[in-house]
Amino acid sequence: MLDRQAATAFVVSQGEELLSGQTLDTNANFLCDRLTDLGLRVLGAATAGDRTQDIADVLAASCARADVVICTGGLGPTADDLTAEAASEAFGRPIELRADALQQVEARYRRAGRVMADSNRRQAMLPRGCDLLENPVGTAPGFALDCSPARLYCLPGVPFEMKRMWADRVQPDLLDRLALRPPQRRLFRVLGRGESQLQDLLGDLPTLFPGVELGFRTSMPENQVKLVAEPDVPGLDDAAVLVRERLGRDLFSEDGGEELAAVVGGLLLRRGERLALAESCTGGWISHLIVTEAGSSRWFDRGWVTYSNQAKVQDLGVPLELLEAHGAVSEPCALAMAEGARARSGADWAVSVTGIAGPEGGSEDKPVGTVCFGVVGPGVQRTRRMQIPSRGRTPTRRFSAFIALDMLRRQILSPG
Ligand code: AMP
Ligand code: MG
Repeated sequence: MLDRQAATAFVVSQGEELLSGQTLDTNANFLCDRLTDLGLRVLGAATAGDRTQDIADVLAASCARADVVICTGGLGPTADDLTAEAASEAFGRPIELRADALQQVEARYRRAGRVMADSNRRQAMLPRGCDLLENPVGTAPGFALDCSPARLYCLPGVPFEMKRMWADRVQPDLLDRLALRPPQRRLFRVLGRGESQLQDLLGDLPTLFPGVELGFRTSMPENQVKLVAEPDVPGLDDAAVLVRERLGRDLFSEDGGEELAAVVGGLLLRRGERLALAESCTGGWISHLIVTEAGSSRWFDRGWVTYSNQAKVQDLGVPLELLEAHGAVSEPCALAMAEGARARSGADWAVSVTGIAGPEGGSEDKPVGTVCFGVVGPGVQRTRRMQIPSRGRTPTRRFSAFIALDMLRRQILSPG
């Protein structure tokens, strides 16, 4: 167990759209993660709709339990934005027009060259005695209120604004006020080993390093290994060294490190080589992963989405006889696609994917989830056929995109 004396937190999400299921509550997820990282113990999270009394009840109850309460949503200019009013009711602080808040809202509109609507004055109506939290990226200012013994932070609901205000305003304020002792953490990102294999491989770590906790998380096909320890526990770095040693090539990134596409890009850049893609069932997903990374133009040449047999023949030069003999979802076809992409682009490497994403199109010898991959490069011709655990069309396509990039990564790291 982690430190029982840790400061406690509660997260409140406000908005009818969260209760009706129209909007996924990503704010609570983000805040729980950050609060835990800072060393606070999150006691709970609650959601309130668009009724002042409900919001006031949730705020009062959470402030009675935790040292820190963070509420998001309900600071906008419309009639359903009721958080300031609710806080004022819950803690008996009259609501009043704050000149400094109004100035911020007005300045925001001036900078954007827009005329402020009267309704925006509402955003400057705040509970008496609160500290204003400037919003550098939106109109709604936030506020913090001492609700002894808790401190309540109210932030806008727009995730982009909320995150910015967390980083600029709330986190520094918490670090200032609380003697926080953030736990030590290490995160390892793994491909090619399932959770149970990881458990077998690393299960002895907590015994070897007392005080170090081991955790797992899966985001198929990636698995993550987490080490957590109290700030004063020694040995986390040694434990991390052992984890790296045991994971070997299956470890592709760590805490805040690069995404898989960037790792592959780094390897290619160091060799001064470029990549082309021939995608069928992934339909551009690998290209998407690649161009998400800044600077990928230095190593990514082009990609084809050759979905039909005709496209495979016309665009990549896959022989028609080969398709007739083996079918489009076959290792020979994957190889021919990759070779075609490499030859026609002049890139050093080419990667291909062809498979059956489902739900239809499967057969006895090629069930849904059968995916074939090709990797060709200087002196390299590799193919692989895989049965991807069937979880639906989108997960199968996503899974395949990561496997394809990982095949290339491993091929570059271990030639032969
Ligand atoms: P509000 O600050 O209540 O006006 O919220 C503005 C917008 O932010 C809403 O329309 C939602 O799209 C979004 N939003 C509010 N709360 C959340 C939340 N907890 N998670 C994700 N998005 C949210
Ligand atoms: Mg709202």
